[in-house]
Amino acid sequence: MASNNASPELLIVMGAGATPDQTEHVVARLQEAGADARVSRGREATVIGAIGARDTLASLPLEGYPGVDRVLPILKPYKLVARELAPDPTVIEVHGRRIGDGYFGLVAGPCTVEYREQTLETARAVADAGATMLRGGAFKPRTSPYTFQGLGLDALEVLREAREETGLPIVTELLDPRHVEEVLEVADVVQIGARNMQNFLLLAEVGRIDKPVLLKRGPSASVEELLMAAEYVAKEGNERIILCERGIKTFERSLRYTLDLGSVAVLKEETHLPVIVDPSHAAGRRALVLPLARAAAAVGADGIIVEAHPRPEEALCDGPQQIPADEFGAFAREVADLAALMGKQIG
Ligand code: PEP
Ligand code: MN
Repeated sequence: MASNNASPELLIVMGAGATPDQTEHVVARLQEAGADARVSRGREATVIGAIGARDTLASLPLEGYPGVDRVLPILKPYKLVARELAPDPTVIEVHGRRIGDGYFGLVAGPCTVEYREQTLETARAVADAGATMLRGGAFKPRTSPYTFQGLGLDALEVLREAREETGLPIVTELLDPRHVEEVLEVADVVQIGARNMQNFLLLAEVGRIDKPVLLKRGPSASVEELLMAAEYVAKEGNERIILCERGIKTFERSLRYTLDLGSVAVLKEETHLPVIVDPSHAAGRRALVLPLARAAAAVGADGIIVEAHPRPEEALCDGPQQIPADEFGAFAREVADLAALMGKQIG
């Protein structure tokens, strides 16, 4: 086996007419030489990511093996999440709901689970509006230790009930590796919050789970740092990752954060992973959430994650940016129209 620190160094692109046997032959030669091979079969081509010591890989006559079209070095610091490594865009599927490629994910729900009825009312509203998944914070990363920190385990029970009633998969944040078991009992997608984007132990932890990860960009992190954070997750074996642009810190004060929509376009070039946008935390106020959501769809995002509440004026967290649950249907229709213009359907 390749050493634990090895990264894929080479991309072996099989020719259009290559047979499965020829691909297997290349994989077998790599393994014999002590390298690992990761095969991706796309609609148009099959590619093999070769992982191993550089001199081992260099000793193999890869270009001469039958069926091989070309061999390329992977020059980027991220490897497994690099677009080159997967011939087709990754689609994350959870209980028949999809995000990625032609499917626009509409993830919606309260910022925080505050009490049962608040969450269930929101869940019904977003389900009726055709949402893809339900979001809701149980463990909240708050700037002030004196503000509401979430209901924790009790919130997970409410989310479980919301899923039973609506059928919507649950997206909720994992804040602490000590909660992984409890969170995994309820979460269908595990969120890593912006502030934990470079919590490398937490990233490795979710790299070993069998559920998709929603990884939010840190407010002061570069696009490359976001991709390297995703690589931490993928390296442990979990390649079901959704990236999320949620606004960054700049000198601009008119929004809560500066939504970096350019990063979405860059990420779509750089990675095969789906990329969604959080217009709620970027905007900080309700009136801006729809225009930013539409812009996200227009720039090519694979979905949005958005906050809604039955009575935002009473919300314990992020009230000014939450969409009233009874207005969510109209909001969702506007977003779905824009997504349709981009050739996508709500997943
Ligand atoms: C959230 O989505 O619940 C959240 C806390 O967002 P962020 O981590 O992007 O601040
Ligand atoms: Mn929030």
